[in-house]
Amino acid sequence: MRIDISGSGAVTLGDVVTCDGFVHEYPIRVQTHVHEDHMDGFDRSKGHQKHIIMTQPTRDLLIAEYNADIPYRANVKAVSLGHPIHLAECQIRLLDNGHMLGSVQVEVTLPDGGRCGYSGDFAWPLGEVIEVEELVLDSTYGSPESVRKFTQEEANGRFIELVVERIKVGPVLILSHRGTLQRAASCLDDAVKFPIIASARLCDELRVYQQHGYSLTKVLNAETAEAKLACSEGRYIRLYGTRERFPTDKGEATSRIVLSAYMSRFGDPVVEYSEKAFCVSLSDHADYIGTLEYVRATGAKKVITDNSRGGHGVDLALALKRELGIEARPSTSQYEREWGK
Ligand SMILES: [Zn+2]
Ligand SMILES: [Zn+2]
Repeated sequence: MRIDISGSGAVTLGDVVTCDGFVHEYPIRVQTHVHEDHMDGFDRSKGHQKHIIMTQPTRDLLIAEYNADIPYRANVKAVSLGHPIHLAECQIRLLDNGHMLGSVQVEVTLPDGGRCGYSGDFAWPLGEVIEVEELVLDSTYGSPESVRKFTQEEANGRFIELVVERIKVGPVLILSHRGTLQRAASCLDDAVKFPIIASARLCDELRVYQQHGYSLTKVLNAETAEAKLACSEGRYIRLYGTRERFPTDKGEATSRIVLSAYMSRFGDPVVEYSEKAFCVSLSDHADYIGTLEYVRATGAKKVITDNSRGGHGVDLALALKRELGIEARPSTSQYEREWGK
């Protein structure tokens, strides 16, 4: 196969394109999105790789996060969705994959006309899917037990209901990953009339989401007088990123909600830990059925399932052989030995 994944998670598509990782001999890196498990070797890429390409929202998020030199680096470039670009005799197309702001699937047409691609972390259904012969596939959900019994809209609806209910008695604190947190805040912005408070740092990040179309009109920087007044009145929503923690001193009436980008239970999006503590699954990954449908839509005949970022690469490779009758194997050397190359 002409596709592979290194031990550190760099996806290689042909001989010149890597995604989400650094490989020394490769001149081109595609950055599919900004989640940390996809950022390996980014600084080395900045120093060594000729072209680092991504969408404009991803570039803006990286600048908000690391600011520093990205705006001045000629090799860090934003490209438009769906618009083919030609580099090093390859054609590269980035398509939306519904996972978070700026995230993409990658399609590479090699000099001999062969096509390979990488799903990135993806949601399902999608409007447009890459067309490839060989595919590197995210394997967050790989087994037939991982079938979600609710839609994303139902999960969003349950989440909003929960916040509306809990804010009647006091503040609601929400903690989640990048992407999921901002999507949730945007849902609440339309549904709730109370202020949404966040740290100065998180506000910078939220501004990028707002520039790219998220509705976030009620967000206040926690350091402002307006936010302090709202806090003293006790009716507000406070957002926390995963680098922060829930404070312990917020009083009796406070509710805490953790939003999980993964599904802990597939039957119900809301798990109640206590009267005031909840976990809600707002997953931005396709489930098992969605993953099979995605692979079918790409037309891939050979698949490597990503086993370098957790998930279920082995189960998923077996399922692809069984359900779709295509050639599939998990990544990582441990399994390469057992499965043969
Ligand atoms: Zn991700
Ligand atoms: Zn990931």
